Amino acid sequence: MEQLQLFDTFTPKINRAVERVIDAYKFSQSLGLGKLWVCFSGGKDSVCLYGIVKKAAEKVGIPLLDFAELHYNVTGIDPPELVQFIKEEFPFVHRDLYKESMWQLIERKQMPPTRLVRYCCAELKEKGGEGRFCATGVRWAESTQRKSRGEFEDIGKTKAEGKILFNDNDDDRRQMEHCIPKRKYVVNPIIDFTDEDVWQFIREENLPYCKLYDQGYERLGCIGCPMAGGKRQQEELAKYPKFRNAYIRAFDRMLIKRKESGLETKWQTGQEVFDWWVNNDKSDTPIEGQGELF
Ligand code: SF4
Repeated sequence: MEQLQLFDTFTPKINRAVERVIDAYKFSQSLGLGKLWVCFSGGKDSVCLYGIVKKAAEKVGIPLLDFAELHYNVTGIDPPELVQFIKEEFPFVHRDLYKESMWQLIERKQMPPTRLVRYCCAELKEKGGEGRFCATGVRWAESTQRKSRGEFEDIGKTKAEGKILFNDNDDDRRQMEHCIPKRKYVVNPIIDFTDEDVWQFIREENLPYCKLYDQGYERLGCIGCPMAGGKRQQEELAKYPKFRNAYIRAFDRMLIKRKESGLETKWQTGQEVFDWWVNNDKSDTPIEGQGELF
């Protein structure tokens, strides 16, 4: 009986997610934007999203890779296990390289990425898909910030353009088509999935997932990400000492740049910056020169 109730609520949720993808594909085709651009990070939400997109392609009778292309933004700071998982299980995913590595960004920005100024996301994670219809694994359950996200979004829409994508008015549609090269349309098919829904779907569909989840990780992402909090930063950087050392070396080079730019700094070495950086209480405060640098 319990199982029947679960089936009754879960299946419609999956069907809704599949229909969102099909709607997005149809709009993408009608606007001449081609296949869907699927943002794929290799984490559980991406794997779930992949399964939903696959179902959508099957439902409309189009081979998956004619229906969608999957893109992984190579960050250079993802856990090696995750990178390996993507290579092995999703060899058809496009691997999009960054223009500047995290180490180069730290040097150029002259400060570490922090919870207040996380410049690296825009450079390493959020590039690609301009002028395309993108599908993401964004979910409301992930954070309060994401509660404001919708099933469908029109990124880059100006106030003057004011119309949202799913508007049948032909004039409005043309107006948007002129703006297409600068813009990104987004569908978030699994926006209403809970963590449990994601795992249930992965298990029921027998989808592969990264082994780090079986080692206690609940979320996967960049090694040393300041958004994860100091404790998690410290644990990760102890586990991956090569990345820890690369951060310290980048902070050393950053200090040289700060001095050349005439920016005050209380730090003498990259190690001091590192110790500050993995201490939440301190690294949540603004840094001298931060305003001028951005
Ligand atoms: S380290 Fe964190 S803030 Fe920086 S790109 Fe990665 S996820 Fe974004």
